[in-house]
Amino acid sequence: MDISASEGHDLEAAFADLSGKRHERLDWQHSVVDLLKLLDLDYGVQFRGWLADTLDVRAGPVGSAKQNNALRKAIIKELAAAEIAWTEMRDARFRNGQCLNCGHPRHWEHRCQARCGKCLHFSHTVSQCGYPVRCIGCGHIGHMLRDCQGLE
Ligand SMILES: [Zn+2]
Ligand SMILES: [Zn+2]
Ligand SMILES: [Zn+2]
Repeated sequence: MDISASEGHDLEAAFADLSGKRHERLDWQHSVVDLLKLLDLDYGVQFRGWLADTLDVRAGPVGSAKQNNALRKAIIKELAAAEIAWTEMRDARFRNGQCLNCGHPRHWEHRCQARCGKCLHFSHTVSQCGYPVRCIGCGHIGHMLRDCQGLE
């Protein structure tokens, strides 16, 4: 992967966890279609074309092996960037004395009743979260609300 070891490690663990919950075996390390399936995104050729444009991936015709591989790497890079953006937001909450999970100024995370502020699951809060960032606006993995472009 084209991302630094520590970021790559976290994402790989999160992906492995996500793919462990699927009935279908998803080869996200080699296939962009499988990666998109894993992230609950559209994997059709039209959407991949749009995504390639958005992420500025120009490595051959849409749907070609070369383009698919470049697109897969670009998506993983975006996910790593989302993790960094998320960490910055959590640190800012910490400095401001806000709940790390939801940003509320009047309770601490261990008292938080909101779902996970990072992945939006109900079973935990951010300090126990091992999943990728999920957008509260559109529900997709890989960006936060402030970066939401309304995928689809
Ligand atoms: Zn909270
Ligand atoms: Zn979570
Ligand atoms: Zn979004």
